[in-house]
Amino acid sequence: MLDFYFEKAPCQDLSHPTLLAKKCEAAVLRLDLLHPIVSGNKWFKLRFYIEQALHQRKKRIVTFGGAWSNHLLATAAACQQLGLRSAALVRGERPAVLSQTLQQAAALGMELFFLSREDYSQKKIPENLLTNFDYIINEGGAGELGVKGASTLLDCVEKERYSHIICAAGTGTTLSGIINAAPKACTIIGIPVLNDLTTIEQTLQQHVQNKAAKWRLLPNYAWGGYAKHPPALLSFMNTFYEQTNIPTDIVYTAKLFYACLQLIENDFFKPGSQVLIIHSGGLQGNRSLPLTTFCFT
Ligand SMILES: *Cc1c(COP(=O)(O)O)cnc(C)c1O
Repeated sequence: MLDFYFEKAPCQDLSHPTLLAKKCEAAVLRLDLLHPIVSGNKWFKLRFYIEQALHQRKKRIVTFGGAWSNHLLATAAACQQLGLRSAALVRGERPAVLSQTLQQAAALGMELFFLSREDYSQKKIPENLLTNFDYIINEGGAGELGVKGASTLLDCVEKERYSHIICAAGTGTTLSGIINAAPKACTIIGIPVLNDLTTIEQTLQQHVQNKAAKWRLLPNYAWGGYAKHPPALLSFMNTFYEQTNIPTDIVYTAKLFYACLQLIENDFFKPGSQVLIIHSGGLQGNRSLPLTTFCFT
């Protein structure tokens, strides 16, 4: 029913000096090009929740996120397009000026409710907010249907071609889905974008069904922690864009591409490897920095 959104994301060969020097081949699944607003992995994580909500004749999706959340914006856009209402429980007190992400979500019809950090950490939904017509989705679309949805993102590629698939990991939901859908011969590599691996490891433990799959986490590419973006990372993003024409985001994909090039540089991949890099989107979050930070938008 929702295939409407799934104009296939393009997969393109990556052309980069490091690859040439190492005679290595890599392709990028450009989920950032999937949809103008619902960009990236977030749509895949949402799809089966939204399908279930529609099936249960719910009228409104209620979910959680921070001020620059890719998930909130994706939810707002998807709901608007599908005729559902949407509401966000946003982390922190209402600021004097809303972030561009929240402004855009509100313009798409999303109702915004602000929770103190403490209430947010307990995911405490204000009394009287919910009715029987509401359908709640976890922060970031985490959970079983989120994993199932993420596993369908590999439908965009000829997955048998690849020896390795590499993606960024926040909660590990997307990584779990990819592991479940990956071909036997393929090794899946997750690049955590935060220092504490507890959540990612729990997610994998709980949701990886493909027990034969070969996968690993490479935890040295978090750049100081979640959403931390030192000047060297920003400068990498600009150089990478100049070299490849591929824009990246500060939270996830910049760290992913950096890690991937380092791995190639360090001969991590055997000759003949075919690497698939998942560009999971999220570019809108770059708006939290001044426009002049990047040579791309
Ligand atoms: C949310 C997000 C991720 C991480 O997805 P998880 O399923 O939480 O690991 C990766 N990339 C982008 C662009 C995201 O928005």
